[in-house]
Amino acid sequence: MKVTDTVHLVDGTKGSYSYLVLGQEPILVDTSMTRNFNNIMDSLSKLGMKPSDIAHIVLTHQDVDHIGNAKELKALSGATLWAPSAEIPYIHGERRGKGARRLISMLMKVDRPQIDRSFDAGDKIGGLEVIPAPGHTPGHVCLRINDVLLAGDLVTTRDGRLRPAPSFLTWDKIALQKSIRDVGSLTFDWVCPAHGDPVRRASLWDSLLQ
Ligand SMILES: [Zn+2]
Repeated sequence: MKVTDTVHLVDGTKGSYSYLVLGQEPILVDTSMTRNFNNIMDSLSKLGMKPSDIAHIVLTHQDVDHIGNAKELKALSGATLWAPSAEIPYIHGERRGKGARRLISMLMKVDRPQIDRSFDAGDKIGGLEVIPAPGHTPGHVCLRINDVLLAGDLVTTRDGRLRPAPSFLTWDKIALQKSIRDVGSLTFDWVCPAHGDPVRRASLWDSLLQ
């Protein structure tokens, strides 16, 4: 589904959306769950693309519903796989999350990918701007291109409204609230979360801060 000329939601990734950022170096942001692999392939071919057209695969954070197809897509595409530096030990399985996150990662087994390159605050990948947004996990990031915020799991949407990421998976609630405030001070029009459909920002962000 086209969000803007540049940003497409990858059809068939409901449950944990991936986004495709078109341009000279096409970028796939997050890789959804393993079961959506064929849907991602179908979506690429509907856009007239082959896996090898993807130049970069960028992960917003460590969770299994975001890294589910990273290993296979990296192998198939030859793309460079990027992740926030603080998330890499968790993605590689060298460190483990706590509580519900640990339980979910035990239930939803994934083939863990090997990250090629790390990034930090202020870095740019293709045209994507890295925006630190810790709270859901220690190194979680949002990504911004033009007027679109790829929000990862900083926020979710339901019925056209924005909500903070669910508290049972929040690593640090105070950090999450600070990230919501900090990201809210930036300029963007579209909010594209992994969970819930994209929404126009309008005044919705204000409701997150109450
Ligand atoms: Zn998550």
